[in-house]
Amino acid sequence: MSLFASPLFLFSLACTGVFCLFVAQLIRSNQVIHQRNDALRLSQAQLEQSAHYDVVTGLPNRLLFQQRLETAISSGERLGVLVLDIDGFKLVNDSLGHPLGDLLLQQTTQRFVSLLTAQDTACRLGGDEFAFVLSCPQDEQVMAQVQGLLLAMQQPFDLKGTAALVTGSIGVAFYPDHGHTSDSLLRHADTAMYAAKEGGRNTYRTYHPDMTLQLQQRIFLEGALRRALQQNEFELWYQPKIDLFSGRVEGAEALLRWRDPEQGLVSPADFIPLAERTGLIIPLGEKVLDLACAQLACWRARECLPGPLAINVAALQIERSDFVESLSRALRRYDLPATLLEVEITESLLMESPQHACAILSQLQQMGVATAVDDFGTGYSSLAYLKVLPIDHLKIDRTFIKDLPGDDDGVAITQSIIDLGHALGFRITAEGIETHAQHAFLRNAGCDQGQGYLIGRPMPADSFERWLAEQPYSQQPMLL
Ligand SMILES: [Mg+2]
Repeated sequence: MSLFASPLFLFSLACTGVFCLFVAQLIRSNQVIHQRNDALRLSQAQLEQSAHYDVVTGLPNRLLFQQRLETAISSGERLGVLVLDIDGFKLVNDSLGHPLGDLLLQQTTQRFVSLLTAQDTACRLGGDEFAFVLSCPQDEQVMAQVQGLLLAMQQPFDLKGTAALVTGSIGVAFYPDHGHTSDSLLRHADTAMYAAKEGGRNTYRTYHPDMTLQLQQRIFLEGALRRALQQNEFELWYQPKIDLFSGRVEGAEALLRWRDPEQGLVSPADFIPLAERTGLIIPLGEKVLDLACAQLACWRARECLPGPLAINVAALQIERSDFVESLSRALRRYDLPATLLEVEITESLLMESPQHACAILSQLQQMGVATAVDDFGTGYSSLAYLKVLPIDHLKIDRTFIKDLPGDDDGVAITQSIIDLGHALGFRITAEGIETHAQHAFLRNAGCDQGQGYLIGRPMPADSFERWLAEQPYSQQPMLL
């Protein structure tokens, strides 16, 4: 029997085989364990990344930012804490889509990062809000960085061939002057950022305790405004417009009033700017349309219509809502002809987005709704646009009327607007007529229509009806 066939040899061979298999298995197991450990480490790193960093910009997120801010505070060094909000970001997102909105965020991040020192931290708080902790040996240094951030935002962004222009509003709070915790510093920088927005955007504000009080009042007023909309606390007052030559009543302007159950009548100057900022102007505008049409239907049924009723339309209503459609719906709801409504838009709105405003005004005119430019002379209307705009009336702003007829500049401007308006085919209305001398001047200057305290103040519907009943309906000039 050969050695290779001996049972001992075969047994040792089998043992060696089993051993090799065991060793191979061991190596494979080790590799699997290593691979598993690598995968675990990777997913831990990914978890860590997503827990502390923003996916879109790669910047630290709010959590990591707060941790770093707390570390910086614990050093006791003076700090500048900034909150920056991009003005006009929503417009980019809405018009160009979220992928290009994200691209804008990435490009702004690159610009921000290039302006920071190694000791500074930037983060994306969420949406279009960023925050910064800046080391602050001197306040002037922080202010220079703030100006740098604002300037960086003002350069156009190239979003895959589309140029986008945005700006930034920045709020600044200093440690230790404005807070000792990360929460209070961020909150105060945020409050200051809102003050910068209200200050006209593309600017910065440094926190002051008065800002917190103003913010609280605004939050209170906003809540009250929402409640007022639900509980129908709004009403329209009516100011008559007359033909300056014949004195005949030619219609009225509907003016919004808020009757708060506790505060009484709240001035539009106090709530319209807030309604515009919060977007509440959209439901409020719907409310005005409904109230105006309801009143017109009531007067029409009682055969005491004063003429067309003019409503004021805010920029946001034209920009954001399906304004023409909601106006048509309101007319249908009360079975009214479109000729009973007139729409007044301000000159500044007209110049902000002339093409869009032009399209809306043109649709209104085609329906039969008269259109007017309000506060004319205060904006910067281009004559080229004025010529092609679908408008029926120009309303001369009261600032030009108030010094008539003694002020030479006022006389020259008013006469020019009347002549220019007539040459372009518009009817001219003067606002704010308060004296007989103003009335006589405007009539002689050829102004077609007028409104103001001399003729009639804004009045609630019942007072307006009584005023109307007292007016001569003949062609005779109204005695003033
Ligand atoms: Mg008006």
